[in-house]
Amino acid sequence: MTNDQPIKRIAIFGSTGSIGTQALEVIAANPDKFSAEVLTAQHNAELLVRQALDFNPNVVVIGDEKKYAFVKDALASTDVKVFSGAKALEEVAAMDCYDLMLAAIVGYAGLKPTLNALQSGKAIALANKETLVVAGDIVMRKAVENRVPVIPVDSEHSAIFQCLVGETRNKIEKVILTASGGPFLGRKPNYLVNVKREHALQHPNWSMGAKISIDSATLMNKGLEMIEAKWLFNLKPEQIQVVVHPQSIIHSMVQFEDGSIKAQMGMPDMKLPIQYAMAFPKRIPNSFPRYDFKKVNTLTFEEPDIKTFRNLGLAMDALQKGGNLPAIMNAANEIAVYAFLRNRINFLDMTDLIEKTMQAVPFIAQPTLEEYFESDGEARNFAADIIKL
Ligand code: NAD
Ligand code: MG
Repeated sequence: MTNDQPIKRIAIFGSTGSIGTQALEVIAANPDKFSAEVLTAQHNAELLVRQALDFNPNVVVIGDEKKYAFVKDALASTDVKVFSGAKALEEVAAMDCYDLMLAAIVGYAGLKPTLNALQSGKAIALANKETLVVAGDIVMRKAVENRVPVIPVDSEHSAIFQCLVGETRNKIEKVILTASGGPFLGRKPNYLVNVKREHALQHPNWSMGAKISIDSATLMNKGLEMIEAKWLFNLKPEQIQVVVHPQSIIHSMVQFEDGSIKAQMGMPDMKLPIQYAMAFPKRIPNSFPRYDFKKVNTLTFEEPDIKTFRNLGLAMDALQKGGNLPAIMNAANEIAVYAFLRNRINFLDMTDLIEKTMQAVPFIAQPTLEEYFESDGEARNFAADIIKL
């Protein structure tokens, strides 16, 4: 080993996804710094097996129990332990075979494994923003109690985190989250009502999983990120501003009490924040493409259009009111995106469904963890009933 640091043992929860596969590229490029010890997937058993053969982890988990036999057989000649089901995912999160969890499962499903990882003292590199949207107060409290860091992977929050290095004694006036605006920037409702899933999945700057691509097209993603920022950086709602920046070169900014603004910039490439979170507090070299001022020489900024992209307004409301409202909104949004991806509802119906659910499920100002789980379930049932899923 050429490195003075021990190898960091990584657990990738959601290793077959967009974030998970890019994290494995980072690990493959740095075998003296990282090893992959846990890999998990929900359905894509073929890819999980290939990853296990390439990276020789301690454990794999296949969420879909029907695929357990396939994975077990395919790895029979290896030492890799194979588990299956949602409970196994939670149990493996508490195992001692790794140091840092990359939380890269999509949606509410990522919450319980992450809570277990925190409980057992594991550092978290957090891609799964829904975890903080649903139960941010409880997650961050657990991190403090167990003295473990939660390092953001989401590019905006990684940018803010990087801007705050060396500023622990200085007050934040506000953070400015940048938004690309998504594939429908500048469009109006009469256009949006007809957009199809294929179109909504085409993001101009980033290639991502289906759910976050739709969230980016509706601007719900930016709303989820405002709530994520509140918990990560202990901010008041009025300290979080969103600005549309279509080039996605400035990944976000922090404004301090003296009016000075720090920004983190670079090409839109998730491998950079993934690598930063895994290697933190060190920066390590790579050969990712560099930003060239001569090529992209105009950076522009505009206000988000909340009248058209009403999901962002709903999320601002949830951020302001707090309690279980973000959890209710998140659950309704997961149902809405699921239904839109299956051509069951149109693009604008998603907003109506979320709004109705937020109005219907009873508000709780200071929920317990159990009440967050219940609110999630209630909101899912209510939303699914409306659209007869
Ligand atoms: P993805 O859909 O590409 O991958 C999701 C992963 O989670 C897959 O490995 C899948 O098998 C697993 N999974 C899905 N449902 C599951 C369930 N019910 N139980 C257990 N595992 C399940 O998603 P992604 O784009 O990689 O995003 C992952 C998370 O990271 C999301 O929360 C997203 O908001 C966040 N994020 C993604 C990006 C990006 O560029 N893709 C950027 C910032 C934040
Ligand atoms: Mg983001």
